[in-house]
Amino acid sequence: MDGKDLIVKVENEITVNVAMLRKRGIVPSLSIIRIGENKASIAYSRSIMSKADSLGIYVEQHKLNGLISEKELISVIQKINKRKEINGILIELPLPQGMRQKIVLEIIDPDKDIDGFHPINLGKLLREDPAFVPATAQSIIETIKNSIHSITGKNAVVIGRSNIVGKPVALLLLKENATVTICHSYTKNLTEIAKTADILIVSIGRPKMINKNYIKEGAIVIDAGINKIDGKIVGDVDFDSVQDIVGRITPVPGNIGALTTLILLKNTIRAAKIQNKLDIS
Ligand code: NDP
Repeated sequence: MDGKDLIVKVENEITVNVAMLRKRGIVPSLSIIRIGENKASIAYSRSIMSKADSLGIYVEQHKLNGLISEKELISVIQKINKRKEINGILIELPLPQGMRQKIVLEIIDPDKDIDGFHPINLGKLLREDPAFVPATAQSIIETIKNSIHSITGKNAVVIGRSNIVGKPVALLLLKENATVTICHSYTKNLTEIAKTADILIVSIGRPKMINKNYIKEGAIVIDAGINKIDGKIVGDVDFDSVQDIVGRITPVPGNIGALTTLILLKNTIRAAKIQNKLDIS
């Protein structure tokens, strides 16, 4: 399950929309704010910028000193909020220690919040009328929809309850009529629960923790984990241990990570359409 067909489909969709917007004199534009020199954040910004560039989306990066205060960061965000030509704002997480993530994310104009982390956008997701869905959760659901006929009635188990992945993905699965169980570090009998899953989503940041003992035969397994071991990127699932049991599994690196970058750009297009009062259907 490498998701290559879906990646090409989303890329084509973006290309068509960029051309449509440019014809109307609108250049979809994204502002990335990165604080400090976190290696993972640098790599993430780089991959978004190169993809945006190749698809005709304007992207700028604000590299801020790691010692910047929360007040100064908020002022940078407020200035970008006011710039009409910028459609999307992405703040690289995690923020430096001492900064309050909840406060900072609330400053982003909800119409420019392409990550979907603003409370207004999370609330809209809850009432099944989302403006922007967190990109990793969206790429997970699109990957599942692309690989099975219907999610309705399936048992889905989500391991991990972050606001970025676990919770939004659980809401999206509910919307698709799955029966959803959310697990976390206090869950008892995790292996037994995971084994009930027709669809198992893992986002825990524990390298290769999920082995064959957690998998029901034929299950679809989505591994969102991105961990580094001896310089190598690995997922939260032990791919080699489970590959003979699973129905399908997403590889790490690849699929979810690559698609997430594209979904962010798709959300930038959506933001440009919303701000220019164009049809978003
Ligand atoms: P967080 O690090 O915010 O939270 C981890 C979650 O996993 C928590 O809910 C925690 O439970 C749970 N957890 C941790 N250990 C266990 C355990 N042993 N058993 C059961 N549950 C456990 O999660 P994120 O979702 O932000 O990140 C998780 C992984 O996904 C990381 O590897 C990250 O790099 C990757 N990631 C990938 C993205 C992509 O685009 N592909 C995007 C974002 C993240 P509790 O709440 O009880 O502490």
